[in-house]
Amino acid sequence: QPITTDMATLTQEIEKFAKDKKLEIETLTVREEYRKEFLGNISHELKTPLFTVQGYILTLLDGAMDDEKLREKYLERANKGVERLIYIVQDLDMITKLEVGDLSLNIDTFDIVEVVEGVFDLLEMKSAKKKITLTFDMLYSNPILVKADKDRIRQVLSNLVVNSIKYGRFKGTTEISIENLIKNKVIVRVTDNGEGIAKANIPRLFERFYRVDKSGSRKEGGSGLGLSIVKHIIEAHDERIYVESELSVGSEFSFTLEKAK
Ligand code: ADP
Repeated sequence: QPITTDMATLTQEIEKFAKDKKLEIETLTVREEYRKEFLGNISHELKTPLFTVQGYILTLLDGAMDDEKLREKYLERANKGVERLIYIVQDLDMITKLEVGDLSLNIDTFDIVEVVEGVFDLLEMKSAKKKITLTFDMLYSNPILVKADKDRIRQVLSNLVVNSIKYGRFKGTTEISIENLIKNKVIVRVTDNGEGIAKANIPRLFERFYRVDKSGSRKEGGSGLGLSIVKHIIEAHDERIYVESELSVGSEFSFTLEKAK
């Protein structure tokens, strides 16, 4: 067979190939679209903090450096911007690994109660700033042993609690409860009485970079990747995640875990 060189023949061949293997070509096109959108989102997310940091540096170079107070203030803000960039890159790294299936789980038996307490300890300062009370409603015996990847589950809980604080109301509450389910499962619920989410937005929540209120969420920091990381981790465990929410009332994110015998 001659090697195809002219465009017309090549196009014909591709079309024929596409017709024969319709599904595969469609999948490829969707993937390509997905990839483009992903890259577009990344550059958009990185641009905001990068320009912010550049703004502070330019102001410093422009003379603010000579004023001791301003110098400290702008350096601190520039550092905050860099911190934000680091968080975004870490989240991107995590999501890429999760999506390529490159993140192997380290399944172990551990006490989920202890992990919840650890997450609450770490986020105490953050919640205190908004006077949000963190409560843990333990309905069953202590400890509660589960079989999962402890570090990843800690991240899931941390992302959910951070969100409940970010989108929580001043003087609100975040409650975690753990309940037995049938078939050796427990369900962990993270409930807040914050701003809630409108029904129409719920189906898209776990998408990468999706945010209900673009400007509002951005002010609160984060990368728009938190919930998609959560979903990936839970699904990698073959477990389920649910969300129930009502605008102005609050939200509840819950996920299942396997109990250790
Ligand atoms: P980020 O918080 O960085 O924007 P996430 O993926 O963690 O990204 O969350 C996606 C969006 O879902 C948020 O921007 C917010 O609009 C909404 N959301 C998440 N958790 C809550 C919550 N507890 N209450 C209200 N809205 C929430």
